[in-house]
Amino acid sequence: MSYPTIVLKKGKEKSLERFHPWIFSGAIKSLPEDIEEGSIVEVRKVDGSFIGIGYYQIGSIAVRMLTFQNEQLDKAFWQAKLEEAIELRRTAGLWGNPETNVFRLIHGEGDGFPGLIVDYYAGCVVFQAHTVGMYLIKDVFLDIIKEVLGFELKAVYDKSAHTLPYKAELSTSDAFLYGEEKEEWEVLEYGCKFNINVVTGQKTGFFVDQRENRKLLEKYCKGKKVLNTFCYSGGFSVFAMQAGAELVHSVDSSQLAIDLTDENIKLNFKDHSNHKSFTADVFSFLNEMPEQYDVIVLDPPAFAKHRRVLANGIKGYRTINEKAIRNMKSGGVLFTFSCSQVVTQEHFRTAVFSAAARAGRKVQIIQQLHQPEDHPISIYHPEGEYLKGLVLRVI
Ligand code: SAH
Repeated sequence: MSYPTIVLKKGKEKSLERFHPWIFSGAIKSLPEDIEEGSIVEVRKVDGSFIGIGYYQIGSIAVRMLTFQNEQLDKAFWQAKLEEAIELRRTAGLWGNPETNVFRLIHGEGDGFPGLIVDYYAGCVVFQAHTVGMYLIKDVFLDIIKEVLGFELKAVYDKSAHTLPYKAELSTSDAFLYGEEKEEWEVLEYGCKFNINVVTGQKTGFFVDQRENRKLLEKYCKGKKVLNTFCYSGGFSVFAMQAGAELVHSVDSSQLAIDLTDENIKLNFKDHSNHKSFTADVFSFLNEMPEQYDVIVLDPPAFAKHRRVLANGIKGYRTINEKAIRNMKSGGVLFTFSCSQVVTQEHFRTAVFSAAARAGRKVQIIQQLHQPEDHPISIYHPEGEYLKGLVLRVI
């Protein structure tokens, strides 16, 4: 079987020859008139020579590449990719780990599935397509995941309705595709328990990407006063409590998030009188902090979702970091993050540098943090590096 063909303008194959997985619409010389969004396409140079196979999407990224070999994209093709993804999680010690049964199983381009996110919650798999092409592999994915995971698979939930391009008009709704139709799943992360609601929770239910950074926080919290801002389901707070913090304050503007935090704290600690939650805007909270903290976590949502709002986003990072640095105890530790893809390591460090200078404190970078192994970055697709963090000591 051959696929409809897209021909590139002369010279536009350069980045593909370096295995970059995206083709921008401006690089295309010709495409079939009747092509439908999500269709598998063959990509060729002007001289007709083969480059690879991908899928078509309406928008500025017109094709996302799936292979640079001339092969059939049959069930065996997808199965080999999934098994490769599982193999990485096994190498990283996540697969079959009795202490941690929540991780990302497929991380888009990093795992060779551009546009697809799949998270694993103690047997419940959440499938989230961000493109039509990936949504169209849903049935084959379901077949494969059932075969590969066998009895370990408890449920599959499709949560793509709000992440697919709205213009695609697929009129899909989120639904369980397989197994127990259970919204709440109790998972373990380094032995700490979290109750995750895959249906009502943000993203796929949990911010899986902060696992290693939450664990690292433990090291700095014993006997300390800890503030966890943008806490969502309380991940960093649970690890601070686990470490034996003197007090832990969790802040989020969403009442739903605060309820989740309280629930997760109770799930892990019988005595939780040293934990307190605040439903508040972090910007205002940092202006009138009820305590002077030894340890502060700043893990905001992406302040810059697009390049055109980059400058504003950077300003947002500078503002919260300045407030935190200004008011911390001497010798305190700040965990500060950006999950904006368009904010580079350099931008983020510069924003934090200006924050420190404005606060007029002596600040040391003691660790540099990033996304964990189950959020791999294809070396050919540096855009996949989105999570950046710094651990600072403020004197
Ligand atoms: N640190 C969390 C993930 C944070 S997600 C974890 O480890 O799981 C970002 C959170 O910031 C969301 O829960 C969102 O409700 C909250 N948020 C966004 N803007 C906010 C603001 N201005 N003030 C307080 N919380 C905010």
